[in-house]
Amino acid sequence: MQDTIWDTAIIGSGPAGLTAGVYTTRGAASTIILGGDVWGGQLMLTSTVDNFPGFPEGVMGPDLMEKMKKQTIRFGAQFVPQNVTKVDFFVRPFVLTVDGSQFTAHSVIIATGAETKWLGVPGEKELIGRGISSCAPCDAPFFKDKYVIVIGGGDSAMEEALVLTKYAEKVTIIHRKSEFKASKVMQEKVFANSKINVIWDSEVVEVKGKIKIEEIIIKNVKKEETKTVKLDGMFVAIGHDPSSQIFKGLIDLDEKGYVVPKEGSKTNIEGVFVSGDVHDHTYKQAITAAGYGCMAAMDCLNYLTELK
Ligand code: NDP
Repeated sequence: MQDTIWDTAIIGSGPAGLTAGVYTTRGAASTIILGGDVWGGQLMLTSTVDNFPGFPEGVMGPDLMEKMKKQTIRFGAQFVPQNVTKVDFFVRPFVLTVDGSQFTAHSVIIATGAETKWLGVPGEKELIGRGISSCAPCDAPFFKDKYVIVIGGGDSAMEEALVLTKYAEKVTIIHRKSEFKASKVMQEKVFANSKINVIWDSEVVEVKGKIKIEEIIIKNVKKEETKTVKLDGMFVAIGHDPSSQIFKGLIDLDEKGYVVPKEGSKTNIEGVFVSGDVHDHTYKQAITAAGYGCMAAMDCLNYLTELK
């Protein structure tokens, strides 16, 4: 695979990257997908997906990704489940470094997605995986009959809290404002659930625990008062950061690190295209990511045609 000059290298294997792969391979472009050592993106951390068209009964996130991967491979894409650690967009063909070896390609589709945002408060980092999580569908069963806290006010926080109520005895959402940002329908579900209560206008300022999380210190931002809350688990659901670090200095990024497309899916480097959550800070849905993957692949195929 390293000896081939690929028509297209796709970096990332969420809905954007895998959809791009379906289109580039069907467009007769030889395609390698550098999918990351944790492949599949955020849907791998989700339970039922009810809003992806074509699945009237819903579909489990990992099952959906497995189907997308199979579909891409069916048309001839090669899949490498490793991380790209470096890219060189100053040479042609482009060079991508993966775990010491190098892949070359005439075009690249960036589909690296976005990563969980953490609070960044003292004590948090040490306790991730020790009572601190960002994935209720993955970890909720560990908190059977326990007391857990969810941080955030968006749809993710609502969803995490609702999933947790299936196991936990009580769930508290802590939000830094006095109203949620989440969609009305999600808020209604949360307010209707007797296991969930909300602490408004409050931020976590410190996390404490020896082997696992034991308590957090929260501050009411209006009254400037702090208090300690004992808990068994904390789920952080405050959004995501785009996974664009390896493109810094090469690809135009905005102040938050999202790739800034020039026109359609084109980036500032000719032959490099972008799709999905790494550039989409608005919609962030699996279906929009898939749509962006399709757009990037079509732009990429046009580019390859002109190149040849
Ligand atoms: P959002 O950016 O929508 O919400 C993040 C929330 O976290 C906000 O309420 C924000 O507060 C809060 N927050 C951010 N930083 C901090 C911090 N440092 N400390 C405390 N709180 C913080 O992210 P989501 O992940 O919730 O959603 C992303 C997108 O995915 C949205 O478009 C959403 O609709 C979609 N989504 C849809 C789902 C569904 O339809 N089932 C499920 C999950 C997500 P503030 O309000 O002050 O900005």
